[in-house]
Amino acid sequence: MRVPADSAVSAARTGDAWSRHAQAVEALQESYRAIPRDAPVRLAKRTSYLFRKRQAAGAPGLDVSRLGRVIDVDPDARTADVQAMTTYEDLVAATLAHRLMPAVVPQLKGITLGGAITGLGIESSSFRNGMPHESVLELEILTGDGRLITARPGEETDESSGERPRPDAGHADHSALFRGFPNSYGTLGYATRLKIRLEPVRPYVQLRHLRFARADRCAEAIAQICSSRSYEGTSVDFVDGTVFAPDEMYLTVGTFVDDAPFTSDYTRRKIYYRSLRERSADYLTVHDYLWRWDTDWFWSSRDLGLENPLVRALWPRSKLRSDVYRRLIAWDERTALSARLDRWTRRPPREDVIQNVEIPLDRIGEYLEFFHREIGISPVWLCPLRALRRWPLYPLDPNQIYIDVGFWSRVQLRAGQSPDHHNRLIEDEIARLGGCKALYSTSYYTEDEFWRRYNGPAYRPLKDAYDPDGRLHDLYEKCVVGR
Ligand SMILES: Cc1cc2nc3c(=O)[nH]c(=O)nc-3n(C[C@H](O)[C@H](O)[C@H](O)COP(=O)(O)OP(=O)(O)OC[C@H]3O[C@@H](n4cnc5c(N)ncnc54)[C@H](O)[C@@H]3O)c2cc1C
Repeated sequence: MRVPADSAVSAARTGDAWSRHAQAVEALQESYRAIPRDAPVRLAKRTSYLFRKRQAAGAPGLDVSRLGRVIDVDPDARTADVQAMTTYEDLVAATLAHRLMPAVVPQLKGITLGGAITGLGIESSSFRNGMPHESVLELEILTGDGRLITARPGEETDESSGERPRPDAGHADHSALFRGFPNSYGTLGYATRLKIRLEPVRPYVQLRHLRFARADRCAEAIAQICSSRSYEGTSVDFVDGTVFAPDEMYLTVGTFVDDAPFTSDYTRRKIYYRSLRERSADYLTVHDYLWRWDTDWFWSSRDLGLENPLVRALWPRSKLRSDVYRRLIAWDERTALSARLDRWTRRPPREDVIQNVEIPLDRIGEYLEFFHREIGISPVWLCPLRALRRWPLYPLDPNQIYIDVGFWSRVQLRAGQSPDHHNRLIEDEIARLGGCKALYSTSYYTEDEFWRRYNGPAYRPLKDAYDPDGRLHDLYEKCVVGR
């Protein structure tokens, strides 16, 4: 990492980091070659935020344990070179040391840069910076057929036509892969290193929690903030929202400031999401702002009893983190403990409804009405988003503002309802409203519908060019069938 005060030392450190990266990539290629040709290639990665069911791996996976470091932060160019399995927690620590941050920082500390680029991420700077992949300048990728290539943006072209990429023509133009990588979920190749754009921060974020009793008024405010990047004369750097009930929703607008009259701390006794209802103004350090949702994984920690003051007091502070909860959930899934408890207590069956969906801003009122009526989960997270350009595998229109709606809970099934009843209703409603959904959780599309929604004509030539022998599962197999 560059430290301007002693450039000779820092240059040597940076050189070391690059050579360690080269060795890690060599080891990765070695691990790829060791996987039998008839066995699917997959990641052997310790953490994951995925919520879809996957078949157990038969063969050993790719060893990516040496690909979790920041290689270099260049404060002058405002860029960072980062190994793809680096968590955002480590990445943010490295960039904040230079008063810089990635353009979009997903809320959960254990999400990795590679996971957020290929599996899409979103946060409250997405109304101006899009998704994390929109600030990637360069991608180093181990392709499905075992090549190590570097992909850059290149000229914008229309991949919706299914035009064939020319991976080895002339200057090894891999720009079609660069554009097809977001939402490919490791089915074309695995990123090993990324160069990303950073942006400057100031020490504090001033928060204003604005209450709305009607979704249309809230949508009007979002439209105004997105177009002017200000609210009531103050500039806005961040915006997200939380819906507690049809007539109770909050937009939280954040503004970088140099000084704060006080700062709050939501990493111990107090819980951030509850503060939205309790106060209209707040201040956080930029670090605490970026991780405000991680401590309680939005509000998911309440399912573990962490809103009980006694449980919270006894729970180690260092374990108030989303990745700890994710591991507990994974353990519960493995042991089927909750399912068994439900059966023993004769509790009606419940369906996991864990999704992030993108709804055009002008249809958000309709969506919330449907959601309150048919699904009933509360709270719900809202995050305005504008794509900066077209990305072939995730069909967002750059001329529209979307609202990412996040909900992560279980819904009780009534007699006669299928186990996937609510998730299917949501898929139908998204289609009706012209939206789309992220693929990190369960999906139920038929194969034809899936390829229509996620641009099969653009995906297929990329798959043929970069994974012709199908060493990696394809996107439908992975995201719907659950391989
Ligand atoms: C409950 C829940 C809430 C969420 N909320 C948000 C949110 O609010 N904001 C947000 O930004 N995101 C959110 N996400 C989505 C999350 O960003 C994505 O699921 C992301 O892919 C997770 O990254 P990971 O590093 O944990 O990847 P993993 O879970 O390990 O992997 C995800 C997928 O990406 C592939 N992959 C991983 N690394 C690479 C790589 N280097 N190259 C190519 N493919 C790779 C894997 O094979 C896998 O298919 C949420 C997810 C869940 C489950």
